[in-house]
Amino acid sequence: MTEPCPSCGLLDRVQHVPAAYHGGHSYYRGRGPAVAVPAGDGVVVTNSQVSGVTVTAVARALDPFPPPRRGGGLLAAAIALALAGSCCLLLPLSAADDPPPGGAAAKALGFTVLSLPAFAVYVAVGVLVWLSVRRVRAHRRQRRGVPAARQVWEQGWFCHRCGGVYFADAGRLLTPAHFRHLVARAGGYDR
Ligand SMILES: [Zn+2]
Repeated sequence: MTEPCPSCGLLDRVQHVPAAYHGGHSYYRGRGPAVAVPAGDGVVVTNSQVSGVTVTAVARALDPFPPPRRGGGLLAAAIALALAGSCCLLLPLSAADDPPPGGAAAKALGFTVLSLPAFAVYVAVGVLVWLSVRRVRAHRRQRRGVPAARQVWEQGWFCHRCGGVYFADAGRLLTPAHFRHLVARAGGYDR
């Protein structure tokens, strides 16, 4: 058993933080509204399946994990840009088949000017790939910090009466946000 809540001095509504966190998740599965599906000449009326999870505000406030990584939007943008850059590359290549009038210097200048869009696009692709790699690395570092963060998280006690968290050895009630910050700092993902 732990120390009583430092704010109200009682124990009856105190719960271990992991228990409060997991208790705030409910999973549901059921039948949704009826939908008509065309089948041959007629329609078949069937019920759609629905399932999901509801999370209470308390559970969300006690979540010890780093924010999930967003999808590979950056990488998709880089690929799209690379394709666009390949189209830009056609400009100088087509000019090589049909050289503009003028000397060798004018030809070189024209070729350089036509190559600029492709060059700029490829620089942008490089920057996007670099940002994407950086994000993946940051996410890996966060995942590595989770066990250390969990150790701190598992020492917390949540008082449902006061809505705060405390550690058994420190006599001060913390807000859930402050507690989460301490947990994230232990995991090295407080930025
Ligand atoms: Zn309390």
